[in-house]
Amino acid sequence: MYCPECKSEYKEDILFCEDCSASLVLSLEDPLPLEEVEWVSLDNIRGDIYAEMVKEVLDNNDIPCYIKTAFMVSAFGIKGAGIPGTKCTIFVPSDNYDEAAEILSEMMD
Ligand SMILES: [Zn+2]
Repeated sequence: MYCPECKSEYKEDILFCEDCSASLVLSLEDPLPLEEVEWVSLDNIRGDIYAEMVKEVLDNNDIPCYIKTAFMVSAFGIKGAGIPGTKCTIFVPSDNYDEAAEILSEMMD
């Protein structure tokens, strides 16, 4: 990922430039602003490890995606209330949704 403003290079899962807050693009030669992509969420995934696994499979299928994680801390300190975990939502471009959902359902089987 590249910043169109300052030309900084970032990892794939970074969406905005840390210096100038510009939306990163996939390539400086052929800019594709991320805001033109409509991101849709796949079914909620329980647990970071599983979400990372899904992301890896999507990566292998050349489907761009990112994971949004919400930490659930309410269970802390309550005995027997369950294991504190994270709630992950995986976002994929709407164009790739059907393909991603199919891959995900195959993983669920
Ligand atoms: Zn920048």
